[in-house]
Formats: sequence, C-alpha cells, structure tokens
Amino acid sequence: MGNLFQRESKDCRSFQDALEDLPVKGNARLSAEEWIGELPAAEAKHAGECVTCHTALEEFAETRNALAGMATVEAGPWFVSRVMAAIVEGAGRRGPGRSLE
Ligand SMILES: [Zn+2]
Repeated sequence: MGNLFQRESKDCRSFQDALEDLPVKGNARLSAEEWIGELPAAEAKHAGECVTCHTALEEFAETRNALAGMATVEAGPWFVSRVMAAIVEGAGRRGPGRSLE
C-alpha cells in the first residue's frame, strides 16, 4: 500500500487497528471525543498527541455516524455495503448532498 501517513509509527498503526476494532454501537451517534473514551488508554492518549490519528478519528466518527443515521431502519448486510458505497462515492465527489437513489 502507499504511504498514507507522513510519519507512520508503531503507535499510529496500533491506533488505526484499535479504531477498526471498535464495535458498531447500533444507531448511537458518538462524537470523536466520545469514541476516544471507547479506546484503550494508550490509544486514547495517542489521539491527543498525534494530529494524523486525531484526523483519522474524526473521519471515523463521521463515517460511523453516517451509518448510524441510516441504520435506524432494520438493515441487512446488503444495505450496509450500499451505504458504504454511497459514502465512498460522496467522499470522492465532494458535491452537494445526494440521496441514495
Ligand atoms: Zn498517530
């Protein structure tokens, strides 16, 4: 993979891993700060010290919240992958909000 981080350290890697391991909290919407509270102490500390990882955390919170907003209806796995596709598409386009259809 490419060089995503200017200074990719071991701490950054374990932070990213910890983020991905966080469970989806139903349709709860947590802020980046609240997600920090869900992280192990070492990773929570790192988020406060590393700009790269703090940005990653904020993007993570946004993505999770977008999913949470759409998961209020009983949604099957197919729906989640569709939502993910829409998020990826929207992030690439950066245009005004488009509906899923
Ligand atoms: Zn970091």
